[in-house]
Amino acid sequence: MIDPEAGAIPRSTFDNLLLPVFSPAEFIPVKALGSTVWDQQGRSYIDFAGGIAVTALGHCHPELVETLQQQSEALWHTSNFYTNEPALRLAVELTSNTFAGRVFFANSGSEANEAAFKVARYYAATQHSPYKTKIIAFTRAFHGRTLFTVSVGGQPSYVDGFGPAPADIVHIPFNDSSALEAVMDARTCAVVLELIQGEGGVIEAQHQFVAKARALCDHHQALLIFDEVQTGMGRTGKLFAYQHYGVTPDILTAAKALGGGFPISAMLTSNQVGKVMKPGSHGSTYGGNALACAVAEKAFKLINTAEMLTGVIHRQQWLLDGLAVINEQFNIFTAIRGRGLLIGAELTEEWQGHIKTLINVCAEQGVMIITAGHNVLRFTPALNIDQDEINLGLSRLAQAISQVNKMR
Ligand SMILES: *Cc1c(COP(=O)(O)O)cnc(C)c1O
Repeated sequence: MIDPEAGAIPRSTFDNLLLPVFSPAEFIPVKALGSTVWDQQGRSYIDFAGGIAVTALGHCHPELVETLQQQSEALWHTSNFYTNEPALRLAVELTSNTFAGRVFFANSGSEANEAAFKVARYYAATQHSPYKTKIIAFTRAFHGRTLFTVSVGGQPSYVDGFGPAPADIVHIPFNDSSALEAVMDARTCAVVLELIQGEGGVIEAQHQFVAKARALCDHHQALLIFDEVQTGMGRTGKLFAYQHYGVTPDILTAAKALGGGFPISAMLTSNQVGKVMKPGSHGSTYGGNALACAVAEKAFKLINTAEMLTGVIHRQQWLLDGLAVINEQFNIFTAIRGRGLLIGAELTEEWQGHIKTLINVCAEQGVMIITAGHNVLRFTPALNIDQDEINLGLSRLAQAISQVNKMR
């Protein structure tokens, strides 16, 4: 633990030196294990955020630590002028456990989606027509922060001031099959959706809507892209959320939990789609880096087991039960929704103006919780969080709610 007297770097450094695009919590985490985090003062926190659905195996999982140490003494990086064994082994895992026949590795969700949208345009231009460029996306969708991905995302405020944005992107309401039918045509190259809109407030795609999207894409020779950056890697109790729906995409993107906290992402495609790309048609310096792939391969093997995936469903139930008790006491949520360990609890109107205060008081009480949208508490803990940690986190959340309740 860092001794504050020994000159720990202060939080104010953030305000002075970092680009002010974030407003991080007042405390600074310095150490973590499992789902418990300690700050500079040695105070402990239960982590219900999991780094936004990233640290799926908890913090400093001993097997990930061991893999990282071993790989760090063997090979870190070679660039894509050379391939490496961890990348090849991870590609085997990803393709043999999903619909996919091809994989492209990148470093973030945004980059995986950027690749997906480029591949969709390229596939349409080379296989159909250079005028088949229209991308259909959904209101409140989130696909990343590069200019292309933020333009495909459904939050106009995130694009304002950064224009001109890439063209020929259409947004329609989520889960609206008739709107989708109305906007799709021969010029559509892709439909992109999250099976659960994460940033948009934890909104599940309806089964019928997803099936309709698949049928319309087939009819119009468009590609169906599932952005599983947040829902993938066991988050919903299956390896990928599309496996709940029985609907197969042409392209799927994964990131967040893929490296268990080490930055890595992947775009998976069917063989038919992926094989149209040529050397030089897309690329990345770091993508498929040996260090990242070694950690991701280990994370994949630890997540993709029956025990881990059924464990997600048990933990979901513990969390839902605890949130229901809290709601009986405080009448704070209008809805508690989601799947597996991607849970959103929407605040009642009376509470909506207090969400920032509540998050801050949660931190003071020792529980890390994040938001989705402006009125939803989001729970994306590690898939292996202990029942004791869940109970302690929930009791700290209840204390925080009780405290804010008296203040408001
Ligand atoms: C987080 C997220 C992204 C962006 O990932 P980054 O790693 O931040 O670039 C894209 N899509 C979805 C659904 C996400 O949740």
